[in-house]
Amino acid sequence: MSVRKDKDWGNWKWQLQNKIRNKESLEAYIVLSNDEISAIDQADSLFELGITPYYASLMDPRNTECPIRLQAIPKLIELQTNERDQQDPLAEEKYMPVKGVTHRYPDRALWYLSHNCAVYCRFCTRKRKVSKPLGTPNRNEWDSALDYFRKTEAIREIILSGGDPLSLSEDHLEWILSELKRIPHINQIRIHSRHPVTLPMRITDTLCEIFNKYFPIYMVTHFNHPKECTTESEQAILRLVKQGAVSVMNQSVLLKGINDSPEILQNLNYKLISMGVKPYYLHQCDETFGVSHFRVPIQKGKEIYQNLRGKQSGITVPLYVADLTGGGGKVPLLPEYEVETKEFTNIYRNYKGDYYEISNGI
Ligand SMILES: *Cc1c(COP(=O)(O)O)cnc(C)c1O
Ligand code: SF4
Repeated sequence: MSVRKDKDWGNWKWQLQNKIRNKESLEAYIVLSNDEISAIDQADSLFELGITPYYASLMDPRNTECPIRLQAIPKLIELQTNERDQQDPLAEEKYMPVKGVTHRYPDRALWYLSHNCAVYCRFCTRKRKVSKPLGTPNRNEWDSALDYFRKTEAIREIILSGGDPLSLSEDHLEWILSELKRIPHINQIRIHSRHPVTLPMRITDTLCEIFNKYFPIYMVTHFNHPKECTTESEQAILRLVKQGAVSVMNQSVLLKGINDSPEILQNLNYKLISMGVKPYYLHQCDETFGVSHFRVPIQKGKEIYQNLRGKQSGITVPLYVADLTGGGGKVPLLPEYEVETKEFTNIYRNYKGDYYEISNGI
C-alpha cells in the first residue's frame, strides 16, 4: 500500500485540511483490524480520531502493533475505565487562577492556547478538553491571562501549551510572544508542541524567523519512538535550531507496547541527540480515563531507567518522572542507588551493580 502524495503534501495547512477523521480515509493508508474498526466507531464521542496524512504515512499498513498506529488509532481496550481513572488527574482545572492558565508551581505557569492538535494521541492526559471545540480559549481569555501574568511577579516562566500552541496562526503567536517579552519579570518562554513529530511541515521559515526575533525560545517536543525520527522531523528540528535559534528538548511518555524497553529508548535518545534535541523527561503515564492499557508498572519503569543511566551517555538520558494524581506536581522516579547510610559513610550501588563506599561529608 503506498499513498500517492498530493502536491501540497509539504504544506502544513493542507495536512490539517486533509486530517484523517474516519475509517474510510484511514483505509487509504492501512488495513484496519476488526478491533480498530469497532474502537473507532465507539471511541469517537469520547475522544476524536484525528491523524495527519503525514503521520498516517508512517504507519505499518498491516501490523496493528505498529508504534505509530498504537499512538493514534484507538483499540477497544481504550473504552475500559478503571477505578482510578479520572477526567483531570493532575487537577489542572483546580489550580486555574484565570481561565486557560494552570499555575501550580510558584515560578511558572502553563497557558493553554488551543484545544487542537495535529494528531490526537490516544494516551493524552487532556482528553477532557483536547479535540473539543467547546471552551477553546478566545481573545478575551488571552487578555485576562496576560493581565494575570503581568500582576503576578513570582512568575518567571510561561509555558505555552494546549492542545498544540503551534495550531495558532503566526500573527497570533507573534502577538503572544511580544506581549510576554514585555513583561519584565518573565525570564523565559517555553513552548510545548508535538508538531515537530506529527506535523513537521508546520515548522516553516516564517515561524522560525519569529522565534529568532524573540530569542531565547525553549521548545519541548514529544517524540516517543525512533520511528518518528524521520527526515521531515529532522529537517524541522534543524530549522528550529538554526533559523529559529530555539533550544529543543523532548519529553516522552513511557508507553506499554510502544517504547517500554531499554533498547527502544536508547535508540530514541541517541537519535534525538543526533538531531539536536536534548531528552528532558520520561513520563509515567497519568491516571487519565482510557489510558490504563498504556501504563507501565513503575517498578519496570525504574528497571528500564537503570539500563539507561550510566550505560548511556548522560546527555541522552531523560529524567523519569510521575506527575502526581491530585495535582501534587512532578516527582522523579529513581531506582535505589543508596544502599546504606552509616555514621560517616554511605554505600552506593553503581550502574553495574557494584558497591562503593564514600564519605557522607559529616
Ligand atoms: C509539568 C508542568 C510544568 C513544567 O514543569 P517543569 O518541571 O518545569 O518542566 C509547569 N506547570 C504545570 C502545571 C505542569 O504540569
Ligand atoms: S499532542 Fe499533546 S495535547 Fe495533543 S493529543 Fe497529543 S498528548 Fe494530547
